Amino acid sequence: MSLKTSEISFKARLHDEIHNDVMRKAVVMAQERIGANRQKMVDELGHWEEWREQAKQIREHILQNLDAYLYQLSEKVTQNGGNVYFANTAEDATDYIKKIAQQKQAKKVVKSKSMVTEEIGLNKVLEAEGIQVIESDLGEYILQLAGDKPSHIVVPAIHKDRHQIRKVLQDKLGYQGEATPEEMTLFIRGKIRQDFLEADIGISGCNFAVAETGSVCLVTNEGNLRLATTLPKTHIAVMGMDRLAPTFKEVDILITLLARSAVGARLTSYNTWLTGPRLVGETDGPEDFHLVIVDNGRSKALGGEFNDILRCIRCGACLNVCPAYRQIGGHSYGSIYPGPIGSVLSPILGGYEDFKDLPYACSLCTACNQVCPVKIPLASLLLKHRSKMVELGITPTLEKLSVKMFTLANNHPTLWKVGMNIGAKLSSKMIKNGKAPINIGAVSEWTKARDLPSSEGESFRNWFKNRT
Ligand code: SF4
Repeated sequence: MSLKTSEISFKARLHDEIHNDVMRKAVVMAQERIGANRQKMVDELGHWEEWREQAKQIREHILQNLDAYLYQLSEKVTQNGGNVYFANTAEDATDYIKKIAQQKQAKKVVKSKSMVTEEIGLNKVLEAEGIQVIESDLGEYILQLAGDKPSHIVVPAIHKDRHQIRKVLQDKLGYQGEATPEEMTLFIRGKIRQDFLEADIGISGCNFAVAETGSVCLVTNEGNLRLATTLPKTHIAVMGMDRLAPTFKEVDILITLLARSAVGARLTSYNTWLTGPRLVGETDGPEDFHLVIVDNGRSKALGGEFNDILRCIRCGACLNVCPAYRQIGGHSYGSIYPGPIGSVLSPILGGYEDFKDLPYACSLCTACNQVCPVKIPLASLLLKHRSKMVELGITPTLEKLSVKMFTLANNHPTLWKVGMNIGAKLSSKMIKNGKAPINIGAVSEWTKARDLPSSEGESFRNWFKNRT
């Protein structure tokens, strides 16, 4: 899998997903549960706006000094006995990881949840080499079995209910138990334990790397990550090039916001700090450690008009409040990054050709701006994408034509007056019971749930003229 997850059109995806009742019910339930928990945690912590401002400043500082911190990080990782690889593109990153796997003659790789490895399409590359890749995060494991894709950046299988999950387990692994989360989790745990012991390589993401110490910080709720990063002889951590913090002090602040914003918890169950491979005299940890730092389009945003999006800490809070995401689910976006963050980030990383519809998948309600723990102005960035596409001339023909006609009428008062008079007369004669005479296309979509208003009585222009 890579950034783009679908070959069908945005409209066709929307049509499919909007009729997916199980997904819509599951997303609403999750949004409400996580939203309520998040609010409780925010209130309990207190001074939330000050925390957000601090986090924003930390992330901004990192971006302004990214070259220095990346240099410091790579020096530290090397001093700790690890290896660092800077990957310009997704292919650079997957080629490097593939080479390590070949050198190690790896047969099995166990992964913990990582968005950046989805972004670079790592599983496909390794599987093409005949290497078995096991996703060890519970949600990702279920999706891998089902041949499905994540639809949320923190809760990948949010779109599935427990009955659908039971069916996947039954069909793929012969599960005969109940559709209860506890029983199904125990069953998967039993299946996957052996994989951790047999894996040649463990691959993880990286929530934050600490430049001062060369440590990789990983937060999870399932404990799978600790097994994936310590049992196999080789650990490869893959990180987006912006996911840094200067010291543990800043990570402390970012994690305080991350757990609360992501799942409405004070802290995630497991907070893991890994600093290089196992040293002489140590009893556990990998013999070999690699940190792959991925650019893959991020430097296009750095220092430019979309720089703010690089502050993102991938908490998913913007998805959890988004009314559009609530209706259409994550798969509609056709990117591994859905929701408001995905609508801004995907066109930057993947280009307008594949993701030009996403900046319009938004009502500009700005709910995402309010919850983002690092104060990213997501709605303004979506508007920036829209104006950029207008500048580049890649908006739909119908839209271009409508805007041209609107501009023409607005610049010529007589034309506007005549147009309004004709429009008012036609609408009062032709619109009956809230329906247009020709009920097709956008008009029919609109009138499915709403009345089309017709003009009635005197025009404002006349009313005003008669009173002045
Ligand atoms: S944009 Fe903000 S709210 Fe959305 S995932 Fe990133 S940090 Fe979280």
